[in-house]
Amino acid sequence: MRVSRVHVRNFRNYKNAALDLSEGRNVLIGENAQGKTNLLEAIELIASGRSDRAGNDRELVYRGENQALVEVSYHSAGYSETASLLLTAGERMSRKAKINGIIQSASRRFARLTTVSFKVSDLDLLRGGPKYRRDWLDQLVCKLKASHFELTTRYDKIVQQRNRLLKTFFEKDGRLTVSDYDELKVWDKQLAQYGSQIIKQRVHVLGLLLPLAEVHQSEISGSRESLTAQYLFKNDETPSDSGSEIGLVGLEQLSQMTEREVEQIISGQLKKRRAEEIARKQTVCGPHRDDVSFSLNGFAATAYASQGQQRSLVLALKLGELKLVTARLEEPPLLLLDDVLAELDLGRQGILMQLVNSEMQTLITTTHLDGFRAEWLEGAKIVTVRAGEIIRQGES
Ligand code: ATP
Ligand code: MG
Repeated sequence: MRVSRVHVRNFRNYKNAALDLSEGRNVLIGENAQGKTNLLEAIELIASGRSDRAGNDRELVYRGENQALVEVSYHSAGYSETASLLLTAGERMSRKAKINGIIQSASRRFARLTTVSFKVSDLDLLRGGPKYRRDWLDQLVCKLKASHFELTTRYDKIVQQRNRLLKTFFEKDGRLTVSDYDELKVWDKQLAQYGSQIIKQRVHVLGLLLPLAEVHQSEISGSRESLTAQYLFKNDETPSDSGSEIGLVGLEQLSQMTEREVEQIISGQLKKRRAEEIARKQTVCGPHRDDVSFSLNGFAATAYASQGQQRSLVLALKLGELKLVTARLEEPPLLLLDDVLAELDLGRQGILMQLVNSEMQTLITTTHLDGFRAEWLEGAKIVTVRAGEIIRQGES
């Protein structure tokens, strides 16, 4: 897959700018707060339908304007597309998606463009909260299975609506009618149904990723560290002799369970924790509460791994992700490296470099070129970004 052009209008701090990408390496250089990440965010918005840092679409529109446009052109063997997304502020924000001028449903992952990104903030994958890891995993599932986007959107709405209902129950001071319970049951069923599908997809993809990441972990650490992971799905009914931590279902066990079995566990948990849910006005069971934990040589990485080990682990996961997505697409995705190269030492950069050969189109952002391995810049197209303008384009 090759991206040829990105065009943004009234997007973040860009009034109107276009970037023509070279087929190999592209480096966006600029000082802080000039618009480097904003441009990557625009590309990812087309590729994934989401922004991982915007709380809502309003933030994406240039302040004081009402409409933002992002347009990305890309091609591969057999197709050539220009995907666009128009964000319009009205009473609420609305989206209009098009491929080659033809309207698409914006509630789906509508573009074939696929990216893998590695950002400096990903180095916090282990230290950050569980939401960070859930979002990362969901995003990865979406790249391999586009329908996961709608599934998670639907699920989030169910949780929101169910929370609203729990709030009304709370306000009734626990005096619930039969029809209240009936209404809750409808939401419980949907939550368990959609929730179990999400969990099964996440577990499946984690199972595909881990062996790939493990190879890289071993390579980076000189075979000293072996990587394992757990999907943390709580089930208070898990017998303590099941081999996994009390209350947790192991990854292996989860991958063998049917969707129906996972659904039953969620339903059981919902029944059991109903009083707590009403008291907290919140849905406390389901995949929006799950987490992933990583271990090195059997020790939880968040608690025991050094900062350097955590970096290596995240790099191993990212390399695994890149391999997995490349295999599924049968071609490399566009790789986005946001600020991350300057944070990796030359050894780790070299390991990344082995995968990112000339086959892989790459867009790198940085404030400076110090500390870069020379190979990154060979034949690269270097572009300067200043105050929302792409001011210079040239070959290095
Ligand atoms: P760094 O090197 O610090 O990561 P960057 O070049 O990646 O910087 P961006 O995150 O791309 O910076 O851009 C940040 C700039 O965009 C900030 O100055 C911010 O105020 C501006 N910005 C963000 N959203 C909007 C918006 N909706 N309208 C106008 N400006 C915006
Ligand atoms: Mg940035």
